[in-house]
Amino acid sequence: MSEQPPITIVNVGYRSTNYWVVSAGTSRLLVDLGWPGSMGMMRAQLERMDVPLNEIRYGLATHYHIDHAGVAQELKLAGVPLLVLDVQESAIPLMKRWTKPQDNYMEITTRDNVVISFAESRAVLGKIGIPGQIVHTPGHSGDSVSLVLDNGAAFTGDLPPLALATDDSEDPIAASWRLLCDLGVTQVYPAHGPVRPLEAESGV
Ligand SMILES: [Zn+2]
Repeated sequence: MSEQPPITIVNVGYRSTNYWVVSAGTSRLLVDLGWPGSMGMMRAQLERMDVPLNEIRYGLATHYHIDHAGVAQELKLAGVPLLVLDVQESAIPLMKRWTKPQDNYMEITTRDNVVISFAESRAVLGKIGIPGQIVHTPGHSGDSVSLVLDNGAAFTGDLPPLALATDDSEDPIAASWRLLCDLGVTQVYPAHGPVRPLEAESGV
């Protein structure tokens, strides 16, 4: 018997976007953070899936586009710290320009986030009982990251399928899939669409 509670994964998504809750018992991480102005919907979905908001230890955006970090600030105000990779910091203030006033986007403040490096990610996740790491997987955007669990699950945000990569050996899409493959990823949990095996998504 392992002492660690098993990892469970549920989807609290809405409006064609997956928001994944990764849990080790009652210690939870929310991957991708809703559309702007949708905190009520996020709360309702968490409740519907039996995820108490106060058990979410961090929010993590795979990248700072509006459908991935739209209620990050509201979540922070509700007690969920925002876990930011250092490569993502500069993308946060740019989100505002993709929103209209009627979106009711609450701008993310930048001085109160938990900013870490990729190298630190395994230790930070370990402290909340989640065995895995966060890696840089550019291709859709420069600030795109993936959460890779030691059980073979990867949360890849909007990383495009390998079929969309160019023949250029420097193509970041191909490089990101190669990295995920090298890390032993077997199941891909994208931000849009169903869970799929790595080989179906990446062709590697
Ligand atoms: Zn995006």
